[in-house]
Amino acid sequence: MKIYNTMTRKKEEFVPIREGKVGIYVCGPTVYDFIHMGNARPMIVFDTLRRYLTYKGYEVNYVSNFTDVDDKIIKRANEEGVDSSVISERYIAEVKKDMAAMNVQEATTHPKATEEIPDMIALVQTLIEKGYAYEVNGTVYFRTRQFKEYGKLSHKNLDDLRSGNRSLQVSGEEEKEDSLDFVLWKPKKEGEPSWESPWGEGRPGWHLECSCMSKKYIGDIIDIHAGGEDLIFPHHENEIAQSEAANGTEFARYWMHNAFLKINNEKMSKSLGNFFTIREISEKYSLQVIRFFMLSAHYRSPLNFSADLVEAAKNGLERILTAYEKAEETAKKAAGVTPSPEEQESIERIETFIQRFEVAMEDDLNTADAISVIFELVKLSNTTIDAQSSKVYCERMTAAIRQLCDILGIETVREAELLDEEIERLIEERQQARKNKDFAKADEIRNTLLEQGIALEDTREGVKWKKI
Ligand code: AMP
Ligand code: ZN
Repeated sequence: MKIYNTMTRKKEEFVPIREGKVGIYVCGPTVYDFIHMGNARPMIVFDTLRRYLTYKGYEVNYVSNFTDVDDKIIKRANEEGVDSSVISERYIAEVKKDMAAMNVQEATTHPKATEEIPDMIALVQTLIEKGYAYEVNGTVYFRTRQFKEYGKLSHKNLDDLRSGNRSLQVSGEEEKEDSLDFVLWKPKKEGEPSWESPWGEGRPGWHLECSCMSKKYIGDIIDIHAGGEDLIFPHHENEIAQSEAANGTEFARYWMHNAFLKINNEKMSKSLGNFFTIREISEKYSLQVIRFFMLSAHYRSPLNFSADLVEAAKNGLERILTAYEKAEETAKKAAGVTPSPEEQESIERIETFIQRFEVAMEDDLNTADAISVIFELVKLSNTTIDAQSSKVYCERMTAAIRQLCDILGIETVREAELLDEEIERLIEERQQARKNKDFAKADEIRNTLLEQGIALEDTREGVKWKKI
């Protein structure tokens, strides 16, 4: 398989460090709110990479963290008057629900920053001992100029960065030796979560957690490190500096970065306020449609969110499911006759479609081309399967469609079969909203369900629902 490596800016043949095994680390979300569609793009893309590598026979160790200590979490906790762990635990649970609904498999390990503090402290100590870090007034900084290869991932020049940074220096950072030095450990402020450390009570900087967790759960060298392209600088650059300085070895072999999900040609983001949460979009579309929409573009191409494009994805998916159902129904009714010579030929064509699907996926995970191949397969199915078709042929066709959809994480079962789970999920969300005294949200969920012909009844035994 060829992977475009951000580090070398080339497509390279993927060669694992250990035969048959792949360690993948994907930077996960900061858990202070529901995730939006932009955050879902790396989740879906790299879950598909994992599924493809698994299909190819690799044993995949997939690690993705939850950043559960961060300014935004603390801010939200203070607004609600609760401990920041209440906020992070709440949104970890919500992210996990969204991931499941998008068919994103649970990671092999989902480490949380707050549970890895001792290892992070040890890493900072190693960096201090090796002369790569220094402490001033309870803050520990990474001595960037000490790491000679700084800038190699983002292809930035250290001198340009330094002159650009000087004017950006924020107050309180005069104590730094150099404007490029970044924080590894920061001292406690009133009302913030903190941990004991050799430099006084405080908490780790964001970049530190990924260096630490990837080492612990994968090893000093990771096969593939991935995330959104906004993480290249400074986050991934800083991860490289920390890990390579501490471990004395290469940090990651292949760096994969997804392009942005945009809306009106701007990056979808919380700060711009131009976002839809996955939860919101799930009230309009099945998340299978959203997954299909995300994979309809190559992951390194920007993808513009528009109702038209999502509608097109919905129709495309519908076409696949209809063909699949027709083939499945025909298989049930068909007698066990052996395939006709024409069917034999079509079976050979099915094999070539599977090969072409693989060729597309091997070309830097080109899911857009892979989906086109599925459409060609569906066309073959529609033009060759009828009441006279043999069971063997129909079954070969359904197995092929199912297998290829499976690699993309697309279910071949239809919406309606998933509907009960979806209703239960919305009811649970409404209960949660009521518990939080968010009655506007609870009413909104009730109305959404009503629009879809589901009436809720609050009884002593809990919430009951019926179709109206
Ligand atoms: P954050 O919680 O902001 O750190 O984001 C979690 C992940 O979502 C990171 O890998 C980001 O790069 C990614 N991400 C955030 N916004 C977008 C977007 N609009 N399009 C694609 N990826 C995004
Ligand atoms: Zn990271």
